[in-house]
Amino acid sequence: MATNLNPDRFAAARDRYLPLLDRLASLFEQMDAAYAAVAGQYGFQCNGCADNCCRTRFYHHTLIEYLYLMEGINALDADTAGETHLRARQVCEKMADADRQGKSFFMMCPLNRDEQCILYSCRPMICRLHGIPHELRRADGSVVKMPGCDAFFSQCRDRGKTDYIRFDRTPLYRQMAMLERELRLATGVDDPIKLTVAQMLATPTGGPCEID
Ligand code: SF4
Ligand code: SF4
Repeated sequence: MATNLNPDRFAAARDRYLPLLDRLASLFEQMDAAYAAVAGQYGFQCNGCADNCCRTRFYHHTLIEYLYLMEGINALDADTAGETHLRARQVCEKMADADRQGKSFFMMCPLNRDEQCILYSCRPMICRLHGIPHELRRADGSVVKMPGCDAFFSQCRDRGKTDYIRFDRTPLYRQMAMLERELRLATGVDDPIKLTVAQMLATPTGGPCEID
């Protein structure tokens, strides 16, 4: 399903949702600290890698992360914002081509320049949490455990540090869901979101494109 959220829809609600973005910033700090604490115990450092996860097609599902990223985009100088927009369109077009041909798709996120994220402080949740093994608790009480990235495994295997150290994303996801609920009430927007970063950035105004 195509997503078509016009950024003008959010302008009138900006005063209402800005305090929620401040709370999201605090939640992001909490995520970064939780991640760093566990990564530090493993001795894992993300120094980039051949599989760079900024090439992965991650979908993001919250309006609050989108609006937070837009604050960062709107603070960029015009040249950088324009170049980012062009890159985003190219990524979206190539992704759509790959999908039409049934091919897998990996392409660098339009915010990545020379292996660095130019909006690092505004990056979405999954960009902050990817890399180390983690677990999620389901509503029925079951726990799903997921491995870290390949580079994590090879770094930690070499030091004999692959035994799982508990990293439970559940409370972080819950806090994100609560903030998202409040944001939806503040904006009155209930469209479902399923967008890559490139799709978020692909229209001239920075709003989501209509590419599936
Ligand atoms: S988190 Fe893992 S996959 Fe992503 S860039 Fe770092 S080492 Fe590579
Ligand atoms: S937003 Fe930043 S960290 Fe996330 S995929 Fe894009 S470049 Fe990488």
